[in-house]
Amino acid sequence: MSNIPFVDLATQYERLKQDIDAGIQRVLEHGRFIMGPEVSELEAALCEFAGCRHAITCASGTDALSMALMAEGIGPGDAVFLPAFTFTASAEVVLLAGAEPVFVDVEPRSFNLDPGHLREQIEATTREGRLRPHAIIAVDLFGLPADHAAIADVADERDLFVIADAAQSFGGRIGEARVGTHAPVTATSFYPAKPLGCFGDGGAVFTDDDDRADVLRSIRTHGEGTGQHEIVRIGLNGRLDTMQAAILLPKLAVFASELEARARLADRYDQRLAGAVTTPIREAGKSSAWAQYSILLDDRDRVQQALRTAGIPSAIYYPIPMHLQPAYAAYGRGEGSLPVSEALSKRILSLPMHPYLDDATADRICDTVLAAVGGA
Ligand SMILES: *Cc1c(COP(=O)(O)O)cnc(C)c1O
Repeated sequence: MSNIPFVDLATQYERLKQDIDAGIQRVLEHGRFIMGPEVSELEAALCEFAGCRHAITCASGTDALSMALMAEGIGPGDAVFLPAFTFTASAEVVLLAGAEPVFVDVEPRSFNLDPGHLREQIEATTREGRLRPHAIIAVDLFGLPADHAAIADVADERDLFVIADAAQSFGGRIGEARVGTHAPVTATSFYPAKPLGCFGDGGAVFTDDDDRADVLRSIRTHGEGTGQHEIVRIGLNGRLDTMQAAILLPKLAVFASELEARARLADRYDQRLAGAVTTPIREAGKSSAWAQYSILLDDRDRVQQALRTAGIPSAIYYPIPMHLQPAYAAYGRGEGSLPVSEALSKRILSLPMHPYLDDATADRICDTVLAAVGGA
């Protein structure tokens, strides 16, 4: 039996081949490779999808986060609070901006920022007095929106700014509110393996604030002012290629149906696996974008080995929480300081998740997990 892909971009390309190829062809013909018409077309479509006023596309999810920090003026002397259980980019951008990350523990079932511990870390940082608490980066891990209402309450109490790291959650919802509208600024990624991915690097920043949107657009292009050769701030070369915008347009057109297919697969996994392993939490009123379907189990090595033997890929996101990474150790308090993140890193396992995974394959994956968990 052929191996199962962890993320199946080939089947998606087969489905969309005609439109993607035609889009690429059009870009080759008009030749406006930087900020061509497909970029603004995509930005309008993203606003429409997310229900927000501004979508500023950019070169990656990492740049989207950097732009959000730069537009807020975050720099030396600032503390930025973020979960320890995340991808490195969430923390890296804070140090690149000259600020310092303060790692916060996560909730044991949602894997997202724990608002209670967030409040404690802000208080501890304030007491210590070395850094000024300035912002919170709230990550929507694996596609599930964080508790943005509780995080906004903490932010308001302390006058902190909130950036949503929605690199994994574009397409998710809290009630009817789509990702892109849950925080004053939201950053997402179009890395190929994200729920909405291009065929290279890409990202976007979302905001409803007109002034902030102008600053973000300026930062995206080297800090340019309204006059073409006027540079009014330090910026980036942070634009999304026109080619990637042309590839994203047909993908965005089918994205809602893909999100439904991901949710159906998650339901199927739940039905088969609940009881044998800890399946992902479902929170009332929230819809995940299902970037990952991640289970918790005690005998992870054995289960992962059984999956490998059966030709089924799996992944560990994340085997080392940020505060224990060598590059960030100086900003944390070491082993034992963030117990939930540390425990999750030892028990988490992500199963294949994409919209084109059929029921028979899902059942085969579940059979293999169940047999391995049972000690077979
Ligand atoms: C992927 C990811 C990023 C970075 O996005 P890139 O497009 O790869 O730069 C940032 N934060 C999180 C949580 C991610 O998963």
